[in-house]
Amino acid sequence: MSDVRNVIIIGSGPAGYTAALYTARASLKPLVFEGSVTAGGALMNTTEVENFPGFRDGIMGPDLMDNMRAQAERFGAELVPDDVTAVDLTGEIKTVTDSAGNVHRAKAVIVSTGSQHRKLNLPSEDELSGRGVSWCATCDGFFFKDQDIAVVGGGDTAMEEATFLSRFAKSVTVVHRRDTLRASKAMQERAFADPKISFIWDSEVAEIHGEGKLSGLTLRNVQSGETAQLPVTGLFIAIGHDPRTELFKGQLELDGDGYLKVDAPSTRTNLTGVFAAGDVVDHTYRQAITAAGTGCAAALDAERYLAALN
Ligand code: FAD
Repeated sequence: MSDVRNVIIIGSGPAGYTAALYTARASLKPLVFEGSVTAGGALMNTTEVENFPGFRDGIMGPDLMDNMRAQAERFGAELVPDDVTAVDLTGEIKTVTDSAGNVHRAKAVIVSTGSQHRKLNLPSEDELSGRGVSWCATCDGFFFKDQDIAVVGGGDTAMEEATFLSRFAKSVTVVHRRDTLRASKAMQERAFADPKISFIWDSEVAEIHGEGKLSGLTLRNVQSGETAQLPVTGLFIAIGHDPRTELFKGQLELDGDGYLKVDAPSTRTNLTGVFAAGDVVDHTYRQAITAAGTGCAAALDAERYLAALN
């Protein structure tokens, strides 16, 4: 079976490129499907990354990902900017189909397809991403010292983001479509008790304003239709994430929120020879460094699995 590869990696964020680096350095000649739209993953859509260790002065997201890509390629990873459109992961030899219908075969597969943060789908949202609009308080909160910030959402994540941001911000306004929160009682109580956090109920963001930098929002009351202006320089959108697991449904085990289940602390899925890493598994930490860490673990797990086959 000369056309059977050792390992195919699906996804090219910090998890996929780190898995590629490790498997390439182990002489496993990985084939990496990077995706056709966002090769490089979520950090391609941001500006400054200040919390990835090793870059004292920070690094731009796309530069960090270009470096990871080049590092994996240097050791022989084969990188293809294409989408995987179908998989059969159940047998001993796995098959992965690309967008042209070509079928690739491998003894092991690492899934690192990430998760998509839900957007408000408003004009300017993407343009102002990294310029006031953010989906991650842990990543970006530090940039908003003494500023007025809005958080959109009413679940646990939104309350956690609001409470975290109140450490830095002058004020945090939570904008929520309903008149009650979905967040757990404990999270709600913490947010209600925080003097810097206030709430605007029954409201949604209708417009995002700013030229090159966020300057404010137009809010619409969903009951009355009335609009109001909210001058803020930060907007944190905390309305959820969708793990990219559609391809794997019916083969890999998913949790109740649609994330891939692994036999933690390993990266093994329910199918032998299939490993998963990064945000497609993780709904707790969701950081570049944790994705890279589990990408490394998946590569080592795959390497050991392949060694045991021989
Ligand atoms: P991703 O980076 O999401 O990569 C997944 C990849 O898989 C994508 O390239 C996608 O195209 C590909 N893919 C999906 N489906 C397929 C398919 N069928 N075929 C082929 N390829 C596929 N974290 C930090 O630590 N610091 C920060 O400052 C920071 N800032 C952020 C700013 C923004 C705007 C966002 C959205 C996130 C930020 N994060 C930050 C979080 C961080 O980006 C993620 O935790 C990390 O990128 C997750 O890595 P991943 O490899 O699991 O997935």
